Amino acid sequence: MVRGDGLYSGLIGDLKRYSYIKATIMEVCGTHTMAISRYGIRSLLPEGVRLISGPGCPVCVTEPGAISTAVQLAESGVTLVTFGDMMRVPSARGSLYQARAKGADVRIAYSPLDALNIAVNNKDISVCFFAVGFETTIPGISFTLKRAIEEGIDNFSMLTSLRTIPPAMEVIVKTGEAGVDGFIAPGHVSTIIGSEAYRDIAEKYGVPTVVSGFSAGDILTTVSMILDMIESNESEVRIQYEHVVKPEGNIKAMKMMYEYFNIYDIAWRGLGIIEKSGLKIKEEYSAIDALCRYDIEIEEEDEPEGCLCGDVLAGRAIPPDCSLFGGLCTPSKPVGPCMVSSEGSCAAYYKYGGDRVRYTI
Ligand code: SF4
Repeated sequence: MVRGDGLYSGLIGDLKRYSYIKATIMEVCGTHTMAISRYGIRSLLPEGVRLISGPGCPVCVTEPGAISTAVQLAESGVTLVTFGDMMRVPSARGSLYQARAKGADVRIAYSPLDALNIAVNNKDISVCFFAVGFETTIPGISFTLKRAIEEGIDNFSMLTSLRTIPPAMEVIVKTGEAGVDGFIAPGHVSTIIGSEAYRDIAEKYGVPTVVSGFSAGDILTTVSMILDMIESNESEVRIQYEHVVKPEGNIKAMKMMYEYFNIYDIAWRGLGIIEKSGLKIKEEYSAIDALCRYDIEIEEEDEPEGCLCGDVLAGRAIPPDCSLFGGLCTPSKPVGPCMVSSEGSCAAYYKYGGDRVRYTI
């Protein structure tokens, strides 16, 4: 049975009118990636419409060198705290789980403030929070920095690998390698940055962009809105998730983002260094920046051998294109981050099946 086809038969039926269109639509949000697979959305679309994943999983796009640096810190005696998904991502130095198995103090936190509390309650240890994420999590990370600085918690630091989504979307359409005709813009990120953040990309590169919610109905409606713009040769930014996302975003949260961080050029797995796409701790707060405090660097590092995560994240491949998919690489024995993360494209394909099986509507 095609998941959701009864509940959304009206929406699916409406999509039939676009059967003559050939289009590739990219989702740029890990939660959308999972929802698309979970609801079997690909199998509900007209034959010519492809949905591919982009760089929307923060764990997956984190450059391998940053994970090695986190492992290095943990092995040097620092208490390393991070989100659960980061624990199993492999790097040249192994994963954080492996470091913990060898005796390093590596802990999982559900929020940056949890990490700060570990430092507050354990003055005899040095705590470093390994912070990865997009605009959705950066305000919370910034707030944690503010508290640590204002309260003078000097046994706390942060190793950051933080990114903003629009520059990555621009690189994808600029290179044209993924052949993207439309974007499903991230719902959570857009609550912070607003839909206007994508206007330049949509207009300059002629790519219809719709900010979507996360239910099957939301995503099907979003695809329909994109196809409608493709049909009428329009390339605007529209909001499907309008009860949550505003064009201007959340001004207060954005202000908080830039209070402690500067924009800089950062490496993305699969996309290389993207200008002005990263956020790093401002120089005046360098005492809390783990790279400065421990005088270490994030070095360049190759992908695990045979892993196509970089191509998957850039939309140049889909998970089954990888020769390791489902054989040598599975969720219980992941080779790359896209199989580790609960928002990874390979994990989604593995768990729910991919788009090789199609249904004509
Ligand atoms: S299947 Fe595994 S090795 Fe292949 S791209 Fe996905 S995560 Fe990387």
